[in-house]
Amino acid sequence: MKVFVMTDVEGVAGVQDWDWTTPGKLHYAEGRELLTREVNAAVEGLLEGGATEILVCDAHGPGGIDVQLLDPRVSLQRGWPDEEWPLGLDESFDAVVWVGQHAKARTPYGHLCHTQSLHYLEETVNGVAIGEFGELAMCASELGVRSIFGSGDEAFCREAEALVPGIETAAVKRGLRADVGGDLDVDEYRRATTSAVHLHPVRARELIREGARRAVERAKNEDFGIIPLQPPFRRVVKLRRSDRRPSATFMEVEHPSSFIAVMNMWGEEQPLDE
Ligand SMILES: [Zn+2]
Repeated sequence: MKVFVMTDVEGVAGVQDWDWTTPGKLHYAEGRELLTREVNAAVEGLLEGGATEILVCDAHGPGGIDVQLLDPRVSLQRGWPDEEWPLGLDESFDAVVWVGQHAKARTPYGHLCHTQSLHYLEETVNGVAIGEFGELAMCASELGVRSIFGSGDEAFCREAEALVPGIETAAVKRGLRADVGGDLDVDEYRRATTSAVHLHPVRARELIREGARRAVERAKNEDFGIIPLQPPFRRVVKLRRSDRRPSATFMEVEHPSSFIAVMNMWGEEQPLDE
């Protein structure tokens, strides 16, 4: 079994706010170490379960993987192909797993939740709200690659389970704010999602290792991990007001047959009346 491991920093236990995810800030190096150790725990579990080849993808904007700490049995991808989506994934993979993933923008009790950037208010495809998990899981489904495991905060785990029934998850922290922040600007929203209760990183890694192993073992006998897709695809992104945008906007794009194609399209922004 060949596995693509998608990684991000905001869903890692012990990563408390943006100072842990941003270059030049006090805890950035620690944030990368915490992510890399969670990735290594997942790799351990995947190999125990029977995975034979693993590619780790560092998808955090400024970089989230400490290469010297990374398990030597994996390859590491950094950067994207010409057509960004599906982020280097292809049909040769059997499964995708997520480590350190956060929930989509505006998720109640989501810790550091956002989609792509803090500017997204909401992204929907055919009316269904998705986040970074859904974006890649749906690309994977179009390619016939199964989504089998994800770790991150509790709100992320519920989001993944709702979109992919049967997916194995490991929750490593829990956000404390129910307020989804729909009317906040980007800077206010950034500050609104930072409170959480974290598992100890050592305990988080135990859960991730167990979950990843179980996911590979279950995938051998159980049928789960592919999202049924229904073309045509209409993708709408609503954007929050900020220094750049005095008021909220939206853009929409459509593709008759391919979810991956619609992810690579961007339309003209128009004023959003909400
Ligand atoms: Zn992210």
